[in-house]
Amino acid sequence: MKKYIIIFFACILMTGCGKKDVSKNINTIIEKEKNILVGINYPVTNIKALDHTIEKNINSIYQKFKSQYNTLNELHEQSELNIDYYYDVINNRYHNITLHTFINSSNLANPYHHIKSYVYDQQNKKFLTIHDILTEDSFLQFVSILKTQLIKKYGECILLDKLKGIITPDYNYPLFTFDTETLTIYFNPGEITASYCDIIDIEIPLSRLQVKIPINSELKTDKVIEFTTNPRVLDISKKVIALTFDDGPSKYTKEILDILNENHAYATFFVIGNKVEIYQDTMQKMVQLGNEIGNHSYNHKWLTKLNQTDLEEQITKTQDIIKQITGYTPTIIRPTYGSISQKLRKQLSLDVIMWTVDTSDWKYKSIDRIVKNATTNIKDLDIILMHDTHERTVSALKKIIPILKEQGFEFVTISELKEIQQLRKQAK
Ligand code: ZN
Repeated sequence: MKKYIIIFFACILMTGCGKKDVSKNINTIIEKEKNILVGINYPVTNIKALDHTIEKNINSIYQKFKSQYNTLNELHEQSELNIDYYYDVINNRYHNITLHTFINSSNLANPYHHIKSYVYDQQNKKFLTIHDILTEDSFLQFVSILKTQLIKKYGECILLDKLKGIITPDYNYPLFTFDTETLTIYFNPGEITASYCDIIDIEIPLSRLQVKIPINSELKTDKVIEFTTNPRVLDISKKVIALTFDDGPSKYTKEILDILNENHAYATFFVIGNKVEIYQDTMQKMVQLGNEIGNHSYNHKWLTKLNQTDLEEQITKTQDIIKQITGYTPTIIRPTYGSISQKLRKQLSLDVIMWTVDTSDWKYKSIDRIVKNATTNIKDLDIILMHDTHERTVSALKKIIPILKEQGFEFVTISELKEIQQLRKQAK
C-alpha cells in the first residue's frame, strides 16, 4: 500500500504575551440526565471567603433547580440550567465577579435570568458595597445619572413607579462591578422592570463620579500571535483513533497535554470559550504540541434551543477568543450535550464532529471503568469522547494510551483522521 506523507505541525510565535495569574481556575459542572441539562462554569479565586460564598450560591441554585425540575418533568420535557460568569481583577486587588443564571424549561413560559455580583477587596479582606466605592457627596449625582440612563436605554421595559421607589440615594444597589474606567449597575428582571424583561445594566464612567478607593488605569498590552503549520508524517496503513476532550480547558488539561506529548500522541480539545482566557498558557501549549482545537460554544448553552443571533454569538465569541490567545482558528465544532438537529447542522459553518465511543468519564468515578470503556472493542477511525475537567480522566488516560498502543493504534487529531479517510479513498 502506498504511503502518503502529510505535513502538519504546529508552531507558534508569540510576542508580548501578557501572563495571567496562574492561581485562577474555573470549575465546571456539566451533566446530562434524561430530563435535565446542567452547564455550570464559575471562577475559583483562591480567596477563601470569596470562593466559599460563590460555591455556596452555586450549590443552592443547583440543588434548587434539581429539586424543582427533576421530578416535575414528563419524558418528553426538558429543563436546562446554565450558569456563566464574568471575572476581572482590577489593580491586583479588587475582584469583580458576576454569576449569570439561566433556566429554560418546558414548564416555564419564559426563560429565567438572574445575576449576582461580588466585589471583593483582597487587600482589606472584605466584600465591598457601593458605599465603599462612591463618596456620599457623589450619591445624588450617581442616582441622577443612573435614572436618566435607565429611562434612555430601557424606556420600554422600565416600570416608572418601581423606578421612583427604588432608584433613590437610600437604596443599596447590591448588583454592581467596576473596572478602571466604568461602574456598572445591574438589575434583575422584575426589580424595576416587568419580570419577562431581561437583566439590565447601566455603565457609568467613573470620571463623572467621586470615587473613594484608589483605582489606577491599567496598561493593556496587545499581543501578536501567529499560527503556522509544519510537517508531521501520517501513515495511512496504520490503524488510527482520535482522542477528544470536551468542556475544558481546566487545571487538569496541562497534565493531559504532557501525557500525550510523552507518548507522541495528538488529540483534539473541544473548548468552552469563556475559559480560554484564564488558561492562556495551556491553550498555547495545546497548539504548540500539535493538538487540534475545536469549538464547544462560549458557555455551554444548549445550542438547539437558541435563536440565530444567540447561536452566532456562542460560536463567534469562542472562535475569536481562541484565535486571539493561540493564533489558531478552529474548523470543527462539537455541539453541547451532543445535541444536534438538521436545523442546527445547517446553521453552523463549522464541521460538526460527534463521537463513536463514549467513555462516560463525567458520570463514572471508577478509573478502571473509564479505562475499560475507552479500550474495549475499539476500531480503526473511532472517535473517543472524554472530558478534561476531571482528575480521574487524567489517571485513566495514563492507562488508556499504553493499552491502545499495544492494540496497534496511532493517536491523531480529528482533521488528520478525516485526511487519512480521504487519502485511503483516493488510494483505492
Ligand atoms: Zn460539553
